[in-house]
Amino acid sequence: MEDLYDFTITYGLIPKVLPEFKQITAGGALLGTGIESSSFKFGLFERTVTQMEIITGEGSVMTIDKNKNADLFYSFSGSYGTLGILTLLEIELIEAKPFVQLSYHKITDYKTAVDKIAQISKNTEIDFLDSILFSRRNVIIMEGKMVGEFPKNSTFSKNSQKNFPSLKTQNTNNKQTPQKIKPTLSLRYFWSKWFYRHVFFVTNIDSEKEENDKGIVHKDFLPLKDYIFRYDRCAFWMGTFLEKDTLKYRLLLGWLRSSYVLYRMRKLWTARNFEEKLYTHDFIVPHENVEGFIQESIQKMFVHPLWLCPVTTNTSNVENDQIQNIIFSISDSRNKINQKKNSNLGKIQDDLFVNVGIYGLPDVVDFGVPYRECFDIVNKYMENFACFLNAKKFLYGSSYYSPQSFWRCYNKNVYDKIRSKYNAHLFPDIYQKIGNCGLRSKLSNLNKNEK
Ligand SMILES: Cc1cc2nc3c(=O)[nH]c(=O)nc-3n(C[C@H](O)[C@H](O)[C@H](O)COP(=O)(O)OP(=O)(O)OC[C@H]3O[C@@H](n4cnc5c(N)ncnc54)[C@H](O)[C@@H]3O)c2cc1C
Repeated sequence: MEDLYDFTITYGLIPKVLPEFKQITAGGALLGTGIESSSFKFGLFERTVTQMEIITGEGSVMTIDKNKNADLFYSFSGSYGTLGILTLLEIELIEAKPFVQLSYHKITDYKTAVDKIAQISKNTEIDFLDSILFSRRNVIIMEGKMVGEFPKNSTFSKNSQKNFPSLKTQNTNNKQTPQKIKPTLSLRYFWSKWFYRHVFFVTNIDSEKEENDKGIVHKDFLPLKDYIFRYDRCAFWMGTFLEKDTLKYRLLLGWLRSSYVLYRMRKLWTARNFEEKLYTHDFIVPHENVEGFIQESIQKMFVHPLWLCPVTTNTSNVENDQIQNIIFSISDSRNKINQKKNSNLGKIQDDLFVNVGIYGLPDVVDFGVPYRECFDIVNKYMENFACFLNAKKFLYGSSYYSPQSFWRCYNKNVYDKIRSKYNAHLFPDIYQKIGNCGLRSKLSNLNKNEK
């Protein structure tokens, strides 16, 4: 994602949705779900993809889009490489500005915060929206707006004006004097403060901050790149489980806490350390069910902080008969809710979902049962509970689904039809690939095969 940012910004543009870990690949973001704080406007990363080039199970190269092999185009996202190999992507970009003005709202009750997120998400003036739940009584909502102008003679400006004349018109029409912006926060260096700690500090400890009439307790200006990758160092707060956030430590070992290193460690140590202890999962929950989901996850695991990121389904451009082909995404959940309109699952609201990121060591109660068993039980419980609420779990981590429970969440008929139509049987079935403690069973199978 960092390469993608560095390249597109030379044209004064950025992708509509740019997942916030630098090392995530475009393929991983599409095939394994990608989200960012601009998703409240544009949906998941997949909703910004306009064309793909893939290699099918038969070995042929195919270009697919919403008009050409539309069923494969829509089912490809979130399919974890089980329908084909992705070789090229075309995505939508938007005009960038050099800084982000970030405003922090402090909400002292998580139920009110969930409503407030929905309310702010309707504001078309802002570019970014996400939130950190530090505790039930301390939720910080952050709304961001891109501001400032690139200097007239910068490469950004020249490239963008040469290649995108429509942007040139917009820029030159803007007669206002360019705003002079002085960043108040920089996250660029490996010794820089971890972003979530900064948020906690300026909204809780720095008591001089008074709430203004819009309920904003603090404002920051930071460079766009620092904002986009703000959670990269420490991978949200996952680095905290290894060491403390002190300047001395950051100076000595901070360079080890980029998401790149943490991700590699997570992948290498999956079976032994992380996956059996550290709960790292994201669930995309229909807005009307988020409150219940948060309450249950806190009660069952007592993990804090939680990351709350609103996301819209954004399927207005998708033909009705294609919606059912978006098998592994949230529009499928919305379909199910609409079908159950008369059940008492909760009232139907627009198109808003909220991603709840739970990253931490669960405080699972042990009644004489080993931690590992409690951990497995909680994992299974959360999967089933999410399915009951029509939420979708990202499948990047360990899954504990039985085949029955897995296929209750996803449409097997459509998936099998697409696999057979496009001869994808060379690739593993998605349940085989990620289901039932995917990584653990994969590792043990690997070991057996090696023997
Ligand atoms: C703690 C944590 C926090 C996270 N937070 C966020 C977040 O804030 N925002 C966000 O968007 N995501 C987040 N993620 C999830 C992350 O985006 C996904 O795990 C993503 O898939 C990772 O991308 P990758 O490039 O590492 O993919 P990989 O892990 O390498 O691949 C993911 C899957 O896609 C398949 N695949 C990859 N490329 C191709 C290809 N070219 N063709 C076919 N198949 C392919 C792989 O086989 C694999 O099954 C988080 C993950 C963790 C662990």
